[in-house]
Amino acid sequence: MKQIIVAIDGFSSCGKSTMAKQLAHEVGYIYVDTGAMYRAVSLFCYRNGWMNDESMDIYSIEKNIENIQLEFRINKNGTAEIFLNGENVEKEIRTLEISNGASRVSTIGAVRKELVRQQQKMGINKGIVMDGRDIGTVVFPKAELKIFLTATPEIRAQRRMDELLAKGEKVIYKDVLANVKERDERDQNRKESPLLQAEDAVVIDNSELTIEQQQILLRKLFDQRIGIA
Ligand code: C5P
Repeated sequence: MKQIIVAIDGFSSCGKSTMAKQLAHEVGYIYVDTGAMYRAVSLFCYRNGWMNDESMDIYSIEKNIENIQLEFRINKNGTAEIFLNGENVEKEIRTLEISNGASRVSTIGAVRKELVRQQQKMGINKGIVMDGRDIGTVVFPKAELKIFLTATPEIRAQRRMDELLAKGEKVIYKDVLANVKERDERDQNRKESPLLQAEDAVVIDNSELTIEQQQILLRKLFDQRIGIA
């Protein structure tokens, strides 16, 4: 059967990864969470002291970006986990501090260039579902199916908070909402590859959709693109 590239972009915490992961599982495609890659770079920078909550040492980050080796490995539950220079960092990259750092390192041109290069390599044989902010515009501008997913900031903050609480992080709604808005602002206004809707993307606002409704919609679009609907 025809293999395609599915590019899913959109704001933070709007459920891109749930959507992408489920589709990849259903159709037997590889799933790549590019946000995890920016988060791993953020963690690497914190650990090396090139970044703290206030500032970052762009010179050192640019100089060392090629020493960051990122890889996804499938765990025993069939879920992809990210490895940073051979170490599983899937848990460490999900904190608020590292998310915020990810949105800051993602403004650095050299970081984007290197990660985009790695992402394009992963999609060379197609059969891939990739989510992020610039997948349909920069990484795979010729992707056969592009989705732009959105939901209100309040709904996204609530979803993110539920996720963090479930993982045992102590967070309050006000901080999570502020973090969501801050990242939206940075993602949309950065100079390098800002979050943009590709002209040929299908827009899905899932504020009022259940996960099941969203999946049905996505699967229908996928089937149309591979020519079986
Ligand atoms: O999707 P996630 O919230 O895990 O992404 C973390 C951060 O990485 C985002 O806030 C965004 O700034 C950045 N990012 C990006 N380009 C991508 C994926 C993520 O700039 N393709």
